[in-house]
Amino acid sequence: MSDSKYVPSAREQAFLDTVESPRYERESINGLRPFFDEKMPEDMRGFYSESELAALLALKGTDRDVEARMPVKLTRHYFELAQKSAPIRRLVKADPAETGNLEGSADPGYQMDYSPVEGLLHKYEMGLMYVVSTCSAHCRFCYREELIGRKEIERQDGSVAKKGMAQIPEITSYVRKHNAAVEANGGRHPESGREKLREILLSGGDPMVLNNTKIAAWFGALAEVGIESIRLGTKEMAFFPQRFDDAFFAMLDNFHKTYPEVGVRFMIHFNHPDEFLLKDDSGNYVEEEGGALAWHPETKRAMNGLVSRGWLCVENQSPLIKDINNDPDALRIMQRALKRVGANNHYFFCGRDIIAHKAFNIPIEEAWRVLNESQKGLSGVEAHARLSITHYKGKTEVVAVTNKPMPGVKGAENGVVIFKILRNAADAPDRGKVCIVGRNPEAIWFDGYADRVIFDEAGLFDYTRVKKKSEGNLTV
Ligand code: SF4
Repeated sequence: MSDSKYVPSAREQAFLDTVESPRYERESINGLRPFFDEKMPEDMRGFYSESELAALLALKGTDRDVEARMPVKLTRHYFELAQKSAPIRRLVKADPAETGNLEGSADPGYQMDYSPVEGLLHKYEMGLMYVVSTCSAHCRFCYREELIGRKEIERQDGSVAKKGMAQIPEITSYVRKHNAAVEANGGRHPESGREKLREILLSGGDPMVLNNTKIAAWFGALAEVGIESIRLGTKEMAFFPQRFDDAFFAMLDNFHKTYPEVGVRFMIHFNHPDEFLLKDDSGNYVEEEGGALAWHPETKRAMNGLVSRGWLCVENQSPLIKDINNDPDALRIMQRALKRVGANNHYFFCGRDIIAHKAFNIPIEEAWRVLNESQKGLSGVEAHARLSITHYKGKTEVVAVTNKPMPGVKGAENGVVIFKILRNAADAPDRGKVCIVGRNPEAIWFDGYADRVIFDEAGLFDYTRVKKKSEGNLTV
């Protein structure tokens, strides 16, 4: 925490004075205890069967305790969607299989190596902030399980602590100093070589669990310090679309009126069309007159509220998770339905190497096949999404998987996988560099290819962790 006090400018304060912050009743169930003790609403009691509850209870307090790995949380809205959808149930229901194999990284991507200020990760020309450590409901596959579960992480300097939340005084002071140094040095930071920090993502956790006043305070402060685009990463449209109400949209409109030069990007998170499309009692999607698939009315209202404001953009991104959305037909429906209402399909992700990732990740080559299949029959604008895998070095695209051998190339007898660096976490020059490996249909992470690298100008397989500042080569 800072002892300095942040003082909004007059323009910022005038915007903040317009903000209304209603309270929301998500009717969330927190933890498994209400299910164990039958202390949840009557109609939710059958959400876990007796045998499921017995198996989960047996793990309590052991090293396979599923709640210790990732807290359990559910909204009534999502519970209702789950009644008609096995993928939705799988997304939020704790399962003893999650902790059958606890291999994985405590801090996937060594996020803290890129944290110059508590709560901020500075990568590329972008900053990502942890502004809150919970969401309205919790995805079992969450790749921020260490943050949501408030676990202690070992930092690069050897200290051990929970990840802290970003605070306005520290963040604005860091951005101001970084950008002033960049400007004074002709466009590059004199030590790190980085460009202006021009885009910041509010993340966590889900910023939409904060009230409008807090979100507005972040927006105003980032605008004042010269951030060109603000992103907000949220799954609230799936968990509690009622949050996107008139008071929230009024806050957005007033922000835009005050700071028209600042771009606003909503990075939404739908994993499956069952999260927003209406289903009939037989489990089929409901068609509207004219053939469009009908949306859940509250979700449609939320989405319309965003896409009708042409000055902001809406981008969906989703990991591909075993038994949730490794289904080409579902993904095809989702990509088409989202684009139809004006939202963009941004990235699909291979699962990260979080603790217990083996319960959730599908093989990299399978993820590529599923996405590629799902995009057959989509128009070009519907099929914009790429498959990305977040290497420790940066965001990497799985460009292609071939089925035939490459004649004369040792290691390519079963075909190859081609990766391409999209963004290097530390700097930009590696963009576009590729890495080609021989196929391994079982590989769920890069280590599955370590013995079959054919060509690696991207340096994915000779990556070493970024050095400590004391060693003179810290890239943040
Ligand atoms: S919405 Fe995102 S941050 Fe929240 S639990 Fe799901 S994956 Fe994790």
